[in-house]
Amino acid sequence: MTEAEEIRTEHICAAPDVVLLIGEPAEAKLMVSSSTLMGSSRVFTALLGPNFREGQGINITTQPKEISLPHDDPETMSDMCYLLHGTHIDKFLKAVDTPRVLRFAITVDKYGCTEALYDRMCTQWILLANLDAFNSTDMITNGQQMCAAYLLDNPRAFYLSTEHLVSEFAKPYQELLREEWSCHFPASILYHLEAKRSAAQRKIITEFTPDKKKTADYGKCALHFRDAFGWRHWPPNFDEDELACFTAQLRKMQTIEDYYGWQGGGVGELSVELDTMCCGICLVCFKEGKAGPLLKCRDVAHA
Ligand SMILES: [Zn+2]
Repeated sequence: MTEAEEIRTEHICAAPDVVLLIGEPAEAKLMVSSSTLMGSSRVFTALLGPNFREGQGINITTQPKEISLPHDDPETMSDMCYLLHGTHIDKFLKAVDTPRVLRFAITVDKYGCTEALYDRMCTQWILLANLDAFNSTDMITNGQQMCAAYLLDNPRAFYLSTEHLVSEFAKPYQELLREEWSCHFPASILYHLEAKRSAAQRKIITEFTPDKKKTADYGKCALHFRDAFGWRHWPPNFDEDELACFTAQLRKMQTIEDYYGWQGGGVGELSVELDTMCCGICLVCFKEGKAGPLLKCRDVAHA
């Protein structure tokens, strides 16, 4: 097999002056413009600039200069280079493949291109389309979406993915730390999520524990709560039962005052309190160290 047959060549721009050889051995040749890449990030400026060994010789000869990037993934680098050159690639933008979106986010972060792509809005589109297609499928997928939103610095996608993690899953978040990509986000996000979820669980238990002094038939009352909220047990088993089941049911109710032993205020008030506990994390506040498990960001500029 000849070299041409083995290595896929992609003409990413009309007048390339650099060829990126991706993989070891090289699997793809990406024909790109050095000025576009250097205008997108300081990492590319360092890599392709005249002071760096790889950048020497660019524009001096008519032949595009070859630069080897053995540790990168061809598909991911191709996705990123097309978007940096302002070319929308249908096959990626319509991809509902979360691992691919995460690989892309990790590479964009590695090459310092988050800001350049954010300005073009394409990363927002990719993240939100992926969240839409894979809404709460499983905790690992949702964790990948959270990690991609963090790396691509997108508050909206980060808020939505962390909201799903709090409401839709009962498993310990520490399971995400076993994933190889977990080194790409701060573990403190998981402690925030755990604190939010536990606060909501405690609130439910406190509000719906029948008062033994006032309720003659404790067992009947507990069954009443279980049936009213459609849970498998009462008190709930938070290792299995997701908060979303409870909050959705609560929103449908007009009143719960008829239930035995109910000691709290109105349904609306409780709903609002639980919504605050189960809301997503504001990425801007989180990065500024201002996000707290029981705080809901009200700053419209952060959304
Ligand atoms: Zn905020």
